[in-house]
Amino acid sequence: MTILAEIQSLLESRAEGRYGLTLINQQQHALQAAWLAEQDGHDDALVTAALLHDIGHLVHDLGDNPADAGIDDKHEELGHHWLTQHFGPAVTEPVRLHVAAKRYLCGKEADYFAKLSPDSVKSLALQGGPMGPDELAAFEAEPHFAAAVQLRRYDERAKVKGLATPPVAHFMPAVGRVCRD
Ligand code: FE
Repeated sequence: MTILAEIQSLLESRAEGRYGLTLINQQQHALQAAWLAEQDGHDDALVTAALLHDIGHLVHDLGDNPADAGIDDKHEELGHHWLTQHFGPAVTEPVRLHVAAKRYLCGKEADYFAKLSPDSVKSLALQGGPMGPDELAAFEAEPHFAAAVQLRRYDERAKVKGLATPPVAHFMPAVGRVCRD
């Protein structure tokens, strides 16, 4: 199976699970995030990062809701590791940083915490809570800082029950254009 076929298959079949989401499944979450990025005119790399930012949930076997058991599945690291075999840093770095970006935004913007879904609030504590001043400055020095923050804002907004999006196949050409294989 080619990597593109494998990604499409993961999103079309394995992503029926919720993996920490309450209102929608992982496939709907991925599609909504990618659709938001595409509609805002972002490039193939950010659309792909949005589509695949939670792929780490789909390549582990910790069950459907590890955060409920107090387990941080480190899905951003799993996803990053998996993706680096096939994509460059414009895709993989925002994925690696999307959890840190939540901690960043909660430390940076007074009203951001209120935008988090209950699931994200629960995992935030496991992930280290809001960043303090030193961490904020270090995060802003990351080369893909801006893309990671943008991805995170889509991540927050991509949890809308019933929001229609194009299917997985719609996004595969963009994924193909940034895939190194
Ligand atoms: Fe997400």
